[in-house]
Parts: sequence; structure tokens; C-alpha cells
Amino acid sequence: MRVINFSAGPAGLPLPALEKARDELLDYAGTGMSIMEQSHRDKPYEAVHRDAIERLTRLLGIPDTHTVLFLTGGASAQFALIPMNFLSAGQSADYVMTGVWSEKALDEAKLLGTPRIAATTVNADGKYTRVPTQAELQLDPGAAYVHSTSNNTIYGTQFHTMIDTGSVPHVCDMSSDFMWRPLDVRKFDFIYAGAQKNLGPSGVLVAIARKEFLARGRKDIPKIFRYATHAEADSLYNTPPTLAIYLVRNVLEWMEGQGGLPGMEKRNTRKAELLYGALDRLTGFYTAPVEKASRSVMNIVFRTPSEALDAVFVTESKKAGMIGLKGHRTAGGIRVSAYNAVSVQDIETLVSFMEQFAKSHG
Ligand SMILES: *Cc1c(COP(=O)(O)O)cnc(C)c1O
Repeated sequence: MRVINFSAGPAGLPLPALEKARDELLDYAGTGMSIMEQSHRDKPYEAVHRDAIERLTRLLGIPDTHTVLFLTGGASAQFALIPMNFLSAGQSADYVMTGVWSEKALDEAKLLGTPRIAATTVNADGKYTRVPTQAELQLDPGAAYVHSTSNNTIYGTQFHTMIDTGSVPHVCDMSSDFMWRPLDVRKFDFIYAGAQKNLGPSGVLVAIARKEFLARGRKDIPKIFRYATHAEADSLYNTPPTLAIYLVRNVLEWMEGQGGLPGMEKRNTRKAELLYGALDRLTGFYTAPVEKASRSVMNIVFRTPSEALDAVFVTESKKAGMIGLKGHRTAGGIRVSAYNAVSVQDIETLVSFMEQFAKSHG
């Protein structure tokens, strides 16, 4: 029996992607070994690698101006690698502050240059319940880039209209916001997302970079840390996380079978409607701290009347076969992560549980 998995990441994976991996585990395509035992320089793995890139390119409609990268170290490594590559001494970059992950990104940039805060929605408690509007941004036209976090996994806020950075390159952490709906990648210069939220297992990060932007990267840093190195080698400069990329490939194949990104958007929008609908109906019991215009479709946060009841909610939901609902330690409360692999039916099950819980504890 599989649980209903609402974890924030690593998250649940679509069953068909796992079943395919299980069936192919011991003998991949008649090679007599698993995909993770193959050389990354041999044809079987190379085909998987290329297939993953092609499916990503097709699903997102990535134009020739951009290139796909598979990297390691997660989003956290990119927090440091972005300023290493794109910030020269004395140069400034603009950071849009919307949560814990933006703070971490800013802290790394401070070690390498002089980043500026272009906007912040932090409140007096040090928390965030909304994202800024375009009018609130104070952008420096001379900045090396603008860094934003499109979905804030911990606070449950999301940009529904991406910020416009004008002629300044836009670098965006989309870790918990990637490939749940169609996206115009041409508006971005560097998108990055750890796979473990919406796209696959942990261990691989997908980046989509504008080739012209990569060409501006610094050459006086170690070769392994230059994005250009990985781009020139099609992400095969050194041994990539082959098993993780193989699983991403399986997930992408599943997505294509579900109507691609328009199909994902339909399903995810419906899920969010059901959840926020329940929260808005049950306001006497649950509180949802995020301002409506900033509500995340991916991570839905709320509270019951007390911390003690929050804990009961988590325990009882677990007994009902649902896991991963405890809020992040910095935000508290309950958090539902409703990534691609979570079905509409899973959310319906959760909503009935929430209704029942409010009735019996309200
Ligand atoms: C999960 C997450 C991260 C951290 O990812 P790691 O792979 O653990 O480094 C960074 N940013 C956002 C928005 C995230 O959701």
C-alpha cells in the first residue's frame, strides 16, 4: 500500500515512473545491468541523457537561444555558483526577498560581491505572507542580474505574474515551481530547479540558461564551477547523477502522457481550488496566513486553532494514510505540498479529512 505523499521535497513520484524503473532495474534494455551501472560515456546512458533533454525541450518549448543543464549540489549550490559566475568584484546584483531560500541566496552572494535588496516582503515577525508587486521593486539598471524565487516552498507564496526585470538578466530559483504549468523560458536568463520537488528524485538540478548569458560568465574561477563548462559538454563534463537523470526522464515521459504542461496546469489548478476552497469555507477553524493574491498552488499552508491541534492533525492524517503535512520548522502549522505527482483524488481525500477534523475538533 502506498501512502498519499504531501512532502515538500523529496516528494512523491508518479507511480508509472517508479514502476518503469523497477521493471528495468536489474537489466536495462537487454544490457544485463541496471542503468546506474553503465558508463556515462556508453550508448545506453547517452540515449537516456539525450532523451531527458529532448523531452524537457519539447515540454517547455525551449528555443535555440537557451540550453538545458543537469547539475549537482541542488539549488543551494547554485546560490553560490550564480554570484561566482556572474558577479565580478565591485559589481552589484539585485535580490528580491520573499522567504528563507531568498535569504540563503543573498547570504552566499554577500560573500562574493555586493548584492542589493530590490524588494522585501518580510514582516515584523521575520516572516513572509506575500510576494511583492512589480511596483514595489526598486531595480538597479546596472545590476549584473536580478535574482528571484518564484515559489516560496516554506511560506506558501508564489508569483502568479513573474517580475519584469527589463534589460537586466533574470535569474530565478524555480525549485518548487518548475514544470507544473507552461512557462515562457525566453523571459528568463537562468532558471534553476532541484528535481526533488516536481520532477524526480533528489541528486540532480535542472537549469535552463540563455546561451548569451552563460557566455558572460567569469573565466577566472575553477573550470568545474563554470556553468559554461557544463553547457559545452552537454552536462557530461564529469560523471552526472545518472540514476536521477534516468528517473527524471521517466517522470517527463509520464507528464507527456498526461497532456504535457497544459495537462499539469489543469490538474494543479483544480487541486489548489479544492484546497483553498475548503480553507475559505472552514475559516472558523482553519487560518490561512497568505494573502490571497500570493497564494501558492504548490505549497498550501494553514493552521488549526492551536499548535497542539496542529500536531494532532499531523498524527491523525498519518493514520489515515497521508504523510508530510507538518509545516516547516520556521513557519509552523500545516503545509500541503501538492506537486505534480499528487492527484486530484489525493486532494479530495485530504479535503474530506480536513472537513471531518474541523467538525470533530471545532
Ligand atoms: C527545496 C528548495 C531549495 C533547496 O534545494 P536543495 O536541493 O536542498 O539545495 C531552494 N530553493 C527553493 C525554492 C526550494 O524549494
